[in-house]
Amino acid sequence: MKTKENVEQIIAYLEDSSNFKSGKAEKVYIPEDETEVIYILKKCAKEKIPVTISAGGTGNVAGRIPLEGVVLSTEELNRIVKIDVENKIATLQSGVVVNNFIKELEKFNLFYPPFPTERNAFIGGNVATNASGEYSFRFGPTRDYVRRIKMVLTTGDILEIRRGEIFEKNGFIDYEHFRIQIPSYRTPDVKCSAGYYIKEGMDAIDLIIGSEGTLGVITEVDVALIDILPERFIMIMFFNTDDDIVEVVTRIKGYKDKLNIYSLEFFDCNSLGFLGEFEFVNRVKKNLDKNCCAIYIEAEKKNLDLWLELAESINCIDTVVAESFSDYEKLVRLRYKLPENINSYFKRLGTTKIAVDAAVPEGKFKELYDFYKNIMLKYKEIKMVLFGHIGENHLHFNLFPENDKQKQLAEEIYIESIRKSVSLGGTGFAEHGIGKLKSKYLYLMYGEQAIYEMAKIKKTFDPYCILGLGNIIPKEILSC
Ligand SMILES: Cc1cc2nc3c(=O)[nH]c(=O)nc-3n(C[C@H](O)[C@H](O)[C@H](O)COP(=O)(O)OP(=O)(O)OC[C@H]3O[C@@H](n4cnc5c(N)ncnc54)[C@H](O)[C@@H]3O)c2cc1C
Repeated sequence: MKTKENVEQIIAYLEDSSNFKSGKAEKVYIPEDETEVIYILKKCAKEKIPVTISAGGTGNVAGRIPLEGVVLSTEELNRIVKIDVENKIATLQSGVVVNNFIKELEKFNLFYPPFPTERNAFIGGNVATNASGEYSFRFGPTRDYVRRIKMVLTTGDILEIRRGEIFEKNGFIDYEHFRIQIPSYRTPDVKCSAGYYIKEGMDAIDLIIGSEGTLGVITEVDVALIDILPERFIMIMFFNTDDDIVEVVTRIKGYKDKLNIYSLEFFDCNSLGFLGEFEFVNRVKKNLDKNCCAIYIEAEKKNLDLWLELAESINCIDTVVAESFSDYEKLVRLRYKLPENINSYFKRLGTTKIAVDAAVPEGKFKELYDFYKNIMLKYKEIKMVLFGHIGENHLHFNLFPENDKQKQLAEEIYIESIRKSVSLGGTGFAEHGIGKLKSKYLYLMYGEQAIYEMAKIKKTFDPYCILGLGNIIPKEILSC
């Protein structure tokens, strides 16, 4: 089996897109098959060595960054095992790069809907974070497409679980090797990646999806596929003011099925400032007020005329439409570039991200939006941006504090924003997971008792308590 032991080799595994700086590891194991995964876990369990699972390293919350011990990288478990075209199911090893998978599917006129914007992620990373991608407005998150998971536990046992086989009953889930009592908290009915997924009558597979490398090493998954998508276009609609934007979005959402919308995204005026490399954004923005914003939609091409009519009726000042392949690719790139440019900016500032990632139920979004806007008006000294998945009542609210005083204020705003979204029946953590960056804030959503209950689940799956330490559950609560 391949290993990496010198500092220059290990360093690449001590980062992701979070800018988290406390990574440390003695060694990286790169297993080439399941037997090697079992060997590594049994050895580390016996010697009580912490193991952190690493995939594509595109995560935003330092989940794959080890605090100590060793890294287990899935990069060589990268085989597309089977594409069952007739039943529209693919079997993949967990280290398959999402972009390679999507390209392969094109040969069969098939498509994998929940792929995240960052296509260098691995499928195992997507399952472990319950990623939701460009089209989650239409198709939902990774969870909805996972049909089977094969996972190696730290005991060396293999847990193989299919959707539809085992469910929560009377407060318990009976897995093949053990039983867990489900905790007292419940995952809200919004887009959510906040700790272990818990619902009444839940499918046992759903606890593993979004468990961020804390329960076992996922080695293989089956995922559902759909037919390749019909031709689409992208349109960006620019507005002079965001005063009525929530009402505009509600109106657009009313046409979701009629207009076959795939993406419905929002950029505030500050976010547009991060897209200066796109000449047309600069040109349009020059003529807009400080309170400007934009809505980005992707929809089926056959409805383009209806969209142009709609754009006229909702007071947008300017539109950019991408119909040709090259224009379409340019706007896809623009959407990808926004989080990437923001991440680079955080890196330049040398701070970890302060990124509120809340989502709320339908009907509650206006209140959350106004809450963010009031904060932006009140604390003008801190640079902030608001962008993202407005169609799902989920925006990324990023703050860029530049000194200690601002950092403290930004943290207070972060905490207040989580409390606000939870009070509205939503989540403080809609996407990306908790990792190490957000673990100390998870109690704000579910209460402290819930975190102890999560620790109990973790220790049932991983009795040696060596896997993904620091992710989801703060180390002091886990007490291994
Ligand atoms: C520009 C950009 C855009 C992004 N857009 C999106 C987006 O649209 N939607 C979204 O959800 N996310 C997005 N992300 C975040 C990121 O791409 C996702 O979180 C992705 O799912 C991480 O996958 P990865 O393979 O890079 O995992 P890593 O970062 O390597 O690991 C993530 C977590 O998964 C665990 N893990 C990985 N593999 C396994 C396994 N085999 N078994 C058990 N645990 C495992 C790790 O231990 C870690 O806790 C974006 C990131 C960037 C940089």
